[in-house]
Formats: sequence, C-alpha cells, structure tokens
Amino acid sequence: MLRIGLVMLQGARHSHIAALERASKETGIDIKIHELRKSSDLDSSEAHAIVMPGGESTTMRLTGNDPVSSLLPAVFDWIRADAERPVLGTCAGAILLAEPGDGGDPLVDAKIERNGFGTQADSFQSTIEALALGREFPGVFIRAPRFTSSGDKAQVTAKLGNEAVGVMTNNRMALTFHPELSGDSGFHDWLLRTAKKYEADSE
Ligand code: GLN
Repeated sequence: MLRIGLVMLQGARHSHIAALERASKETGIDIKIHELRKSSDLDSSEAHAIVMPGGESTTMRLTGNDPVSSLLPAVFDWIRADAERPVLGTCAGAILLAEPGDGGDPLVDAKIERNGFGTQADSFQSTIEALALGREFPGVFIRAPRFTSSGDKAQVTAKLGNEAVGVMTNNRMALTFHPELSGDSGFHDWLLRTAKKYEADSE
C-alpha cells in the first residue's frame, strides 16, 4: 500500500483525491491518501510521495509557515532529505517547488513567474504535449504561472507549443497547469508508478 501525502493548505485538493483514486484503479497500485495540514501529519503519514496542489501561493506560504501548521518547512525538509522522493506540484504547487522561499535551493531547476499567463480572465484550456507521458494531454491553465527559464538539472516534461509548462528535477515534477481538473489521470499515474519504484528501491 503506497502512502500519498496531499498538502491541504488551499486550492484544488479534492480533485487531486479523485485523480489519485482514478490513477490507483488505472495502475492497479493500492494507495492510502494522507491529508496533510500540519507538520505532524507528514511525520505520521510516512508518505512515499507528496502532491502539492494549486491555490494561491501567497496564502499557502502564510498558512503553511504559520507556527500552528509548520507544514511547508516540513514538506521542504522531507523533499530535500532524499532527491529521489516523488513529488507532483501543480500550479501554485509548482511555484513553491521553483521558489520555496525558505533560503534553500529551488527544488526544481527552473525560474517561474506568478500569473505569467495573465489573470483569471486569461485562464484557458489547450492541448499540450506531455513528454513525460509520450502523448497529448488536456492542459487546464488557471491564473497559471509561467516558466521563464529552466536549468541543466531540469527535464522538460510538458510543452505548450515551444514553451515548457512542465519540468522535472530528479522525481520532482512541477506543472503550471491543473492535471487534476482535466479528467486525465496520466500525471497521477506517473506519480504512483514512480512512488512504487521508489518504495521498492528504498526497502
Ligand atoms: N496565480 C496563483 C499563484 O500565484 C496560482 C494559480 C493556481 O494555482 N491556480 O499562486
């Protein structure tokens, strides 16, 4: 049974639960989802992988760094403790991976601009090329951030036209769109398969 930690600071968390459950059926990998609200939830979850949903990154930083929660520093420590730990960060989650804002190194090797595609009115849907999955994927972009550059340690995992909209460093995948709202669980399947391998390797 794989244990998946879901960061519950704000945003589209419930759609991630649905997408993870679909991915579990599709891959045949049994999962237990642990909702993470404070640092002790992460400790007790003994998670094999983490999902960082979208929302508003400023709010997520405030609530996640609040001493009552302290979830964000705990999540960043957990990620940094082992470079191979599988993480899926979507939209604001991708912002936090590229700019953890805790004085430490970025968790994916890319620079990101908040609301880089414009404001709410500029939210859009478009077919993207999911290089990580080897196929097209329905991209849902909501007040989406935009990668302004990516470094040597980042692999481009999704493209909108010529532009990177997904990057991965080690097993940390940062997507500027919302795969959990697309009805396609491909990236959640990726997370479960990667976590399964990670679990097997770390035993
Ligand atoms: N614009 C948001 C931010 O800056 C991200 C939007 C989203 O996660 N849907 O945090």
